[in-house]
Amino acid sequence: MSFTSVPEDQLAKLRDLIAQPRRIAIVTHYNPDGDALGSSLGLMHVLRSMGHTAQVVLPNTPGDFLDWLPGRKEALSFDRSPDASLSTIRTSDILFCLDFNRLDRVGGLEDAARSAGVKVLIDHHQEPDTFAQATFSDTTASSTCQMVFDILTALGHADLITLDAATSLYVGLVTDSGSFRFRSTTPHTMRVAASVMERGVDIDRVHSAIADTNTADRLKLLGYALSERMTVLPDRRTTVIALDKDELKRFNYKTGYTEGFVNYGLSIKGMRLAAFFMERPDQVKISLRSKGDLPVDRFVKEHFNGGGHANAAGGQTTEPLHVAIERFLTLLPAFLEAHPA
Ligand code: 5GP
Ligand code: MN
Repeated sequence: MSFTSVPEDQLAKLRDLIAQPRRIAIVTHYNPDGDALGSSLGLMHVLRSMGHTAQVVLPNTPGDFLDWLPGRKEALSFDRSPDASLSTIRTSDILFCLDFNRLDRVGGLEDAARSAGVKVLIDHHQEPDTFAQATFSDTTASSTCQMVFDILTALGHADLITLDAATSLYVGLVTDSGSFRFRSTTPHTMRVAASVMERGVDIDRVHSAIADTNTADRLKLLGYALSERMTVLPDRRTTVIALDKDELKRFNYKTGYTEGFVNYGLSIKGMRLAAFFMERPDQVKISLRSKGDLPVDRFVKEHFNGGGHANAAGGQTTEPLHVAIERFLTLLPAFLEAHPA
């Protein structure tokens, strides 16, 4: 296997940084997804077996669908243990920043992360900030988990990726690649998945743990969103789904319930853009997904204070829900026309 994508200069810096046993904190983005949590825990396991003290700190508690991941219970979350979370970051020798590239993505941990001495960034999102002493940024990588695997291998530590680490990394490989279907999935992604699988990962269990986690409330909310709250704009090849506070409450909304709702819009034949709006207590959250050359990350960056990837991005606004949707619909034609299919 070749690992030419890992830059040698950054690797040399990282090798130096972890040459001695260190106190290491690993932080990832707000609302940690499978890649965020998988890469953090995967790296944690390997750093520990190298003799470091490694602790994962999450900006908030993710939905419980990944609670079974090896080491998950040991991770601190800022919303549940603010003091321990902050002091872990403040007393660390090195802070690894995984699956995000701007420090405002770590919520209440931002100030502590900013003041942490030595930072190492491993991420695949667009336009990284320069805040780390060693930066591994590859916007073509399918997942941060894939990058962590490549970096550990390039460091000569592939043998330390044991079953627990491999299981964690496989989660991010699967979730961020849409089960190996998004265009970011390359032959190399498949080779990394194969290497990880050779460590004994129970892939059926992982897929089932990720996919078969519905509650009745969530399925009913999905049914409601699709039957009552989805608008299809065939001329624009766009679908819009929106849910307000009361609707979410009616279905006993819990964090993570609306994860993936936006993809249903894009699964309608012929669609090239799907939008999902959700009213949160203090702001409206927007998620966009696109097919082909339609850079939704640029759109949300410009208009909805967000970012992400070319085909999957998110943002937020403090406008009322209906105003946000109106503004989106007003901006839509120019955006679509600037990127003809
Ligand atoms: P989602 O729509 O699932 O929340 O996010 C899709 C992608 O966009 C993810 O890669 C996520 O990291 C990124 N993203 C979501 N919300 C934001 C945001 O507010 N700011 C930035 N920079 N990226 C976001
Ligand atoms: Mn990711």
